[in-house]
Amino acid sequence: MDEIVNEIALYGDISEYVPLSTCTTLRIGGTARAVIYPKNDLALSQIMNILLKKRVPYKIIGKGSNLLCNDAEFNGIVIRLDRYFNEYYFDENKLVAQAGCSIISLSYEAMKKGLSGLEFASGIPATVGGVTYMNAGAYKSNMKDVIDRVYIYRDGKCEWITNQECQFEYRKSIFHMQRDWIILGVQFSLTEKPVDEIREIMDDRRERRMKTQPLDHFNAGSVFRNPEGKLAWQIVEQLGFRGKKIGDAQVSEKHVNFIVNLGHATAWDFITLVKEIQKRAKEELNEDLVMEVEKFNWND
Ligand SMILES: Cc1cc2nc3c(=O)[nH]c(=O)nc-3n(C[C@H](O)[C@H](O)[C@H](O)COP(=O)(O)OP(=O)(O)OC[C@H]3O[C@@H](n4cnc5c(N)ncnc54)[C@H](O)[C@@H]3O)c2cc1C
Repeated sequence: MDEIVNEIALYGDISEYVPLSTCTTLRIGGTARAVIYPKNDLALSQIMNILLKKRVPYKIIGKGSNLLCNDAEFNGIVIRLDRYFNEYYFDENKLVAQAGCSIISLSYEAMKKGLSGLEFASGIPATVGGVTYMNAGAYKSNMKDVIDRVYIYRDGKCEWITNQECQFEYRKSIFHMQRDWIILGVQFSLTEKPVDEIREIMDDRRERRMKTQPLDHFNAGSVFRNPEGKLAWQIVEQLGFRGKKIGDAQVSEKHVNFIVNLGHATAWDFITLVKEIQKRAKEELNEDLVMEVEKFNWND
């Protein structure tokens, strides 16, 4: 592994033995062998050639706002695009942005241009790559509503794929199946609207998030997907889990579909709490609660 780390170091900024807790909003996780920020598309493709050829485990991480990393070491390479892949430009009502751009910053830039469509995403602490992968959404809008096409790296080539080809569904896309494809950039299609109207919507959404979400604690957003026609938080509430704690992981008092890290939570604390909620939901309400937060570096 030392040799591989030295080899890929030519193509980006690399740090070794990085706690994954520093790469995620939940602040949980063991150590990754190395984290690399590739300098550009070409450097990324060189890195990928090496990692694929040598069968080295790797993981692309955006802002890590949907990840629960295991406490164990990750003997592989984390690739992050949020240092060098953050260029964007507007072309009339189109916005083209690289995968490492912050979706919050982009939604504010679009607002300043009088372009509407990203208001719903103005409070999601994520990258363009991450929100596309997840088809992130809020307030009945989803990324799929504003994405025209996606620029990807696959099979050694960079190419555009259409919105339809992304097969967006609720918090899901083709990228869940095609784990070796990398999102490099996205073209969004936005609509003209007076700046004040857009700002008002964004201010309103921000206030709602501040009022309803535990933003003063480390978290990874909603823990469970909403089952068809139901709201996950109502199920967790009905089971009486509000405020329930295991170690330093706690079902938020403010929003019961969030589990917060009070400071020193481990992945074990978090997942044990998740499993207890899932077990009771099944036993008492016959509900299957599926995690929306992605487990990374687990064996099961
Ligand atoms: C406070 C808070 C509020 C949130 N609110 C919402 C909300 O309103 N709606 C919502 O849907 N989610 C929400 N989330 C969850 C989270 O922000 C989203 O799931 C988001 O899409 C994750 O983006 P990320 O850049 O952090 O990706 P990460 O969490 O780093 O990664 C998520 C997945 O995307 C993959 N990925 C990331 N970048 C790429 C790329 N370039 N190419 C290929 N794969 C990639 C990763 O490998 C991983 O599998 C919230 C989270 C927090 C902490």
